[in-house]
Amino acid sequence: MKNIPVTKPYFTDEINYINEVLQSGWVAQGQRVAEFEKLVASHEDCKYGIATSSCTTALHLLFVSLGIGKSDDVLVPSFTFIATPNSVQYTSATPVFVDNLPDTTFSVDPDAILDCIENKYSRKADGTLTNKSTGNCLKGIIAVHLFGLCANMERIKQIAEKYQLWVVEDSACALGARINSKPQGGFGVASCLSFHPRKSITTGEGGMILTSDLEMAEKLRSLRSHGASISETQRHHNKGYLLPEFNSLGFNFRLTDIQAAVGISQMNKIDWLLEEKRKKALRYNELISSEIPWLIKPIEPIGYVHTYQSYVCMLNTEALGLSSLSKANQFRNTIMEGLELSGVATRQGTHAAHTLGFYRSKYGIREEDYPNANRADKLSIALPLYPQMSAEDIEYVVLKLKEEYSKQKG
Ligand SMILES: *Cc1c(COP(=O)(O)O)cnc(C)c1O
Repeated sequence: MKNIPVTKPYFTDEINYINEVLQSGWVAQGQRVAEFEKLVASHEDCKYGIATSSCTTALHLLFVSLGIGKSDDVLVPSFTFIATPNSVQYTSATPVFVDNLPDTTFSVDPDAILDCIENKYSRKADGTLTNKSTGNCLKGIIAVHLFGLCANMERIKQIAEKYQLWVVEDSACALGARINSKPQGGFGVASCLSFHPRKSITTGEGGMILTSDLEMAEKLRSLRSHGASISETQRHHNKGYLLPEFNSLGFNFRLTDIQAAVGISQMNKIDWLLEEKRKKALRYNELISSEIPWLIKPIEPIGYVHTYQSYVCMLNTEALGLSSLSKANQFRNTIMEGLELSGVATRQGTHAAHTLGFYRSKYGIREEDYPNANRADKLSIALPLYPQMSAEDIEYVVLKLKEEYSKQKG
């Protein structure tokens, strides 16, 4: 029987890079991390890269550096991985959810951002936006580039400028994503990447903050390493035995040189990895267009480059004649179960974060408060996709989708 995973990392000569690091005797954050940071930052046209132990710690570090805390709000799309709102919550600030678009961009709805600001906040004379029910102050917006497609950054930036808010890009899925050939990472104050095995490249676990702001980069570097800083006098005298000073509460969110070695090897083939995934996604597009009318393919708006970190479709409930959300959800789950039994792994796209226990109970949110995110949660399906996936395996997935449909629909 076939065994097709939902994704699979692609390794070639990583072991040689790892060996070199082990033999050098320097395995913690060092030269290799610095080299990896430069490779990623230059690929994405950003000045500075700050590697971290994951994208979650990257986001957390970034929010600490932006100084948010108790009595601050940040707008977060509700259809996203739980790490996005969690990273705000870690600072004791409040993630305020906003619905996503109903289509298969799965991006945040810019009009929902506007509605949220206009309805939930009042504007004080100095321009600050105060939450009418909690008194919190709105500070910024997280734009999530979900599954490898950038959110509508033109609209989001317009809104942010109008209300004097910052924008942070959650680019966990979006290394290589572009809008009009401009890479992710250039649209907000900073962006955060993930190197988890489900993302474009992997270091096992790992993340990176990209920014072109030198002051921010230096602050992030210090906070990543316990808030360590070398004083100007120490720098001047350059004495190796002097310890740094610790003037702010930092973390140990460092990546290791062993992980960076893997990352360097992955970056050497990044364009090939993205190109191969893209070819395979386009093949799915062709097959689904002609053979599976009950699935809606992922959209790639004009001018956008989708990297297909995941190839995520939605059930076409009209074509299926299923108007009840719970019936359609059951249909999807049965399809996924059948595929699993035929050796094809699938997943739902991601979660509607507002429906997850922690947020539901902490903020008293109901599923139907963000209906598009709720639908995406219940009707999305990520099909297997990885650079080395064979043409035959793609056809097998499509064949099994058709068979599972026939079993339910006759
Ligand atoms: C994967 C993911 C993260 C978290 O990345 P880690 O490196 O696993 O911490 C955050 N946000 C989004 C949108 C993700 O898909």
